[in-house]
Amino acid sequence: MSAKILDGKWVREQILAELRPRIERMTKSHRPPGLAVILVGHDPASEIYVRGKIKACGQLGIYSEKIAPPDTITTEELLGIIEGLNQRNEIDGILVQMPLPQQVNKLRILVSVKPDKDVDGFHPMNIGSLVANIPGPRACTPAGIMELLRRYEIPIAGQKAVIIGRSDIVGKPMALLLLHQHATVTICHSKTSNLADECRRADILVAAMGKPAFVTRDFIRPGATVIDVGQNRGPEGKGLVGDVDLAALEELAGAYTPVPGGVGPLTIAMLMTNTVRAAEQHLCCE
Ligand code: NAP
Repeated sequence: MSAKILDGKWVREQILAELRPRIERMTKSHRPPGLAVILVGHDPASEIYVRGKIKACGQLGIYSEKIAPPDTITTEELLGIIEGLNQRNEIDGILVQMPLPQQVNKLRILVSVKPDKDVDGFHPMNIGSLVANIPGPRACTPAGIMELLRRYEIPIAGQKAVIIGRSDIVGKPMALLLLHQHATVTICHSKTSNLADECRRADILVAAMGKPAFVTRDFIRPGATVIDVGQNRGPEGKGLVGDVDLAALEELAGAYTPVPGGVGPLTIAMLMTNTVRAAEQHLCCE
């Protein structure tokens, strides 16, 4: 039996189509949702990500604003910009594109975004909501993966899920979201012993390590659902390569997300979702 491809673009289009009428309703009755994106400096990858986010806003009718201070900015100056955005009613979401220059205190910046405008779900208060399983904005990439699993009707409750990676933006929130859906969750990292053995237990394997094609056939239980979060530069810096070896996926997985076209398209769709949700909440209080 050949492996089923889980198409992230198909899921993204569904998510965006569901957002459109909500945005139209808000725009007609009050105002469009608003997102401010802060891009410090000129990191080429960050510029591409920010361009994608602003473009998605334009296509959906979400008001967006890009603020691009120089990479010499101080923590205090950046806090001033965020405070200004916190005060503005027409801005529902504030996104500070990472990474920040070394001289900027990342934690002070994350904490300064008003939790109800934290559309990345990175504020410690929102991380607390995630841990406690109470509503709040969730980190976009893991939230997108949950949408994909739901829309493809992949069972989660009672399944063994193994995540490779424990970052604050992917691995940890992914583990909690799967746990809340009653998976039995294992988190692996660079100090895990017998990594392949751990992974081979998984009904759902999520690879989020940032190592091109590191996950080979020894890691995959036949029939498993494999979610490849990795976005690595391909050979000679060309194209995108996942963390999982494609031949192993085709041979062994029951279903898998391709790279590109799997997890990647979902992240911006969930950012748009978080922005629309924040706007709906703000508008009912304005
Ligand atoms: P990260 O912060 O660098 O974390 C990588 C994690 O992988 C760490 O927890 C690390 O373990 C673990 N790891 C690294 N090498 C390992 C090894 N040999 N064996 C076991 N574990 C290992 O990366 P991230 O931000 O989570 O991103 C992970 C990947 O996802 C990257 O390729 C990134 O580009 C991609 N990504 C994609 C999207 C998207 O929209 N598709 C969004 C975000 C990230 P330690 O903690 O022990 O160091």
